[in-house]
Amino acid sequence: MAVRKIIRMGHPTLRKPARSLDKRELRSPEIERLLVDMIDTLKDAGGIGLAAPQVDESIRLAIIDVPGGPSRYGEIPAMPLTVFANPRIEIVDPEAAGYWEGCLSVPGLRGYVERPQHARVTYQDLRGDTRQLELKGFLATVFQHEFDHLDGVLYIDRIKDPTKLVFEDEYVRYLAGAREELDLV
Ligand code: ZN
Repeated sequence: MAVRKIIRMGHPTLRKPARSLDKRELRSPEIERLLVDMIDTLKDAGGIGLAAPQVDESIRLAIIDVPGGPSRYGEIPAMPLTVFANPRIEIVDPEAAGYWEGCLSVPGLRGYVERPQHARVTYQDLRGDTRQLELKGFLATVFQHEFDHLDGVLYIDRIKDPTKLVFEDEYVRYLAGAREELDLV
């Protein structure tokens, strides 16, 4: 068990599409060890999601752990710690909503990003079985942010209005209280 270093914007791995995992790899001790480290790293960083490329492993693997319950976004459905291998996202309804996103690989900044709020994700679990989840609202944004990491995309690429990219401190000072704040993913 170990906390891994989270790589930051500018590291080439964050800009590279990650490769898929096959069934044999999913059940391997190497992936199990990596996942234990990713869970430790996510807990240490205090985020709600982490993709393998963020710890410099260019594979299509991510974990998401949303506490849920009442919050500034209203009532959030909890997403207990779940492992997603080879996920594919399909937009069910393109109607978008914006949140102030943060990213563990882009520390110190927040940016306002609009994304579709109804999506379906198809992924494999650690046994290699295919599963599906339907996501609405806040969770749809979290998953799109997280899985973008597997394609070498960062949230800043999706900011339409560059005046809405701000430092965290200034965000807290001038903009906090906005309901659309997203925790670090
Ligand atoms: Zn991120």
